[in-house]
Amino acid sequence: MTLSTTSKPYSANCEVLLGKSLAELTDWVQQHGQPAYRGKQLYQWLYQKGARSLLDITVFPKQWRNLMADYPLGRSTIHHCSIAPDGTRKYLLRLVDGLIIEAVGIPTAKRLTVCVSSQVGCPMNCDFCATGKGGFTRNLQAYEIVDQVLTVQSDFGQRVSNVVFMGMGEPLMNIAQTVAAVKSLNQDLGIGQRSLTVSTVGIPGKIKQLADHKLQIVLAISLHAPNQELRAKLIPTAKNYPLARLLQECRQYVSITGRRVTFEYILLAGVNDLPEHAGELATCLKGFQTHVNLIPYNPIDEVDYQRPNRNRIEQFKQSLEKSKIAVSVRYSRGLEADAACGQLRASSMQAEEAID
Ligand code: SAH
Repeated sequence: MTLSTTSKPYSANCEVLLGKSLAELTDWVQQHGQPAYRGKQLYQWLYQKGARSLLDITVFPKQWRNLMADYPLGRSTIHHCSIAPDGTRKYLLRLVDGLIIEAVGIPTAKRLTVCVSSQVGCPMNCDFCATGKGGFTRNLQAYEIVDQVLTVQSDFGQRVSNVVFMGMGEPLMNIAQTVAAVKSLNQDLGIGQRSLTVSTVGIPGKIKQLADHKLQIVLAISLHAPNQELRAKLIPTAKNYPLARLLQECRQYVSITGRRVTFEYILLAGVNDLPEHAGELATCLKGFQTHVNLIPYNPIDEVDYQRPNRNRIEQFKQSLEKSKIAVSVRYSRGLEADAACGQLRASSMQAEEAID
């Protein structure tokens, strides 16, 4: 059956289907001339089978599928994929509007973790981060976050077990869509909330706002410095968010959600990796039941920080251990194969460890 564009039973700027709930999809199929039970089928094909087009949904009548073939589902396309020797796959995904984002799939023996972007670019401009250097373009919609997980899942042909919000962007600057994506990953894709990690540098008031959603996710705080002065140098937005207040909001998060927070700490040689920094960090985190992830800096072109040698990293780690702080270091494998994705990858491996 061939149809001219004008005969399409929907408008050109119709809403995409990914992101809709079962009830919304049921309404939608009925509005488009199908019985209500097709809503459940559509839901399953979107979220479980990862359909990319209504044409894929072979349980639907052929004539209707042809009629609706171009209706937008909201899926991205894989623009580029590079595979590291250890199996990690870094994707550049092209969104419906042509913008490009990063997502990473990290396989381990028992898991498949996906590192997702929450924004196109990032407005935080942290000094050591490649994404910030490229500026900020826009927030992602929840369905564009879910799409990343579906894409990696079908490319690996394996169920995704964990998701970390550690790709491009600052999730708490896009909190509504981040929370919606978390709920969808949990309810629609069936990924446990405890297997979802949201990572943030901290935005005043937003950690409390997130806590009020009472999710059971892992909250990871990108701390990176043990005092306000150094932190404000590395993370420009920290100037307006004193470390004491950030830690206070973290305590509030713990008391509202009953969940721990973890802290991420990039190690930059000679900048924040000295014995006194480890001591200060231990003092900062006193009273927190927490886990610290040390991330040896992954060099980027734009700045000339150095990664500390293994000795220094070990010393820093041991110093925290002496203060009874649970700590792990994740060295990134496969970095050489695709240096550009190293940063994203190193941090996502790190978060996977945090979930252990
Ligand atoms: N905006 C959020 C999430 C994205 S960044 C946040 O800051 O937490 C995810 C992690 O990657 C953060 O801990 C970030 O500090 C880290 N990261 C950024 N640049 C890095 C680099 N060059 N080397 C190692 N880790 C880096």
